[in-house]
Amino acid sequence: MGKREYYHYVKCSHDECKETGFYTATSRRELSEIANRNRVWKCVRHTAPNEVLSEESPNKRIVLTVIESNEHNYWANEDGKLGSGFVYGSGYKAYASDFHVGTKLVITVELIPAQKNNMEAVEHPATNAGSQPGKK
Ligand SMILES: [Zn+2]
Repeated sequence: MGKREYYHYVKCSHDECKETGFYTATSRRELSEIANRNRVWKCVRHTAPNEVLSEESPNKRIVLTVIESNEHNYWANEDGKLGSGFVYGSGYKAYASDFHVGTKLVITVELIPAQKNNMEAVEHPATNAGSQPGKK
């Protein structure tokens, strides 16, 4: 018999924001804790707006450094704040314990907005139909 799962949905408390969050719990007690912790929940757009990519802010560069604490290696952010021993994103995963203290992980992202020309090509895919063979 499979384990019972409980679900908790939250809506961003910021005015007029439509973002939602979704949590799973394995017991009613855990579900209750999640609900209590998220009575006033805000989405990433409203808790970390500088991390959300947009056409006006299409690039991000994050540098993490391996530091040691209590005989374990962790990734620390640029403020030196202790992070996780394991970081991941689309296409990469990195254990801090695989590297020497001082090793840096540079994460860069670049958003390339659709150009107006490309969008027109998608909106009108039949533009090249005039060159169909057999037409006179
Ligand atoms: Zn929000």
